[in-house]
Amino acid sequence: MNSKAMYKLSYGLFVVTVQHEGKLNGCITNTAIQVANSPDRIGLAINKANLTHDLVAASGVFNISIISTDAKFDLFKHFGMQSGRDVDKFADFADIATAANGLPYVTKGTNAYMSCKVCESFDLGSHTFFVATIEDMEVLADTPSCTYADYQSDIKPKRSAAPAADEGAVYRCTICGYEYKEKDGDPANGIAPGTKWEDLPEDWVCPLCKHPKSDFEKVQ
Ligand code: FE
Repeated sequence: MNSKAMYKLSYGLFVVTVQHEGKLNGCITNTAIQVANSPDRIGLAINKANLTHDLVAASGVFNISIISTDAKFDLFKHFGMQSGRDVDKFADFADIATAANGLPYVTKGTNAYMSCKVCESFDLGSHTFFVATIEDMEVLADTPSCTYADYQSDIKPKRSAAPAADEGAVYRCTICGYEYKEKDGDPANGIAPGTKWEDLPEDWVCPLCKHPKSDFEKVQ
């Protein structure tokens, strides 16, 4: 079985925004799809490790902003590579407006938004799959939607320089570009300097985007 077959699936990219008990948060997802049209329904899978997951589960209401091809890497960095547990992602973020449901949506680097209300949820192990009714939606621009392939080929920064020879083994996250250097380890997450890639726990994830070891490639 070749698990790389999963990479052949095509996806859009979205910012999910949500609020519960005064806590406002948003994250990037590739898992929003239309699952019915009478009524209009959206399916959205969210990793349980994300704060956004808990806020959607608790509030049952969220917005989806559809990312377009003119989005900058900063948008992905802002919503996808830091946790709302550590920072307030809306404290210094200007490119938002408020939808009729009171939740923000992203106005730059996006081409539409939808306001959604959860009607069913399914425990899928790593993720919860939320099925939601669309209560409102608007088109913001005619710019094409950004696919995951567009992000990989056109938006994610290209690697600037080869690592120095004395850095030892380096593995790069194919999702966000973070580099795991065996020499440095990942002390913030309990991984001592000098820890070999093979010795990283299987549940270790990219410190930036939280993707698993299987999404890394060896650089040197
Ligand atoms: Fe990453």
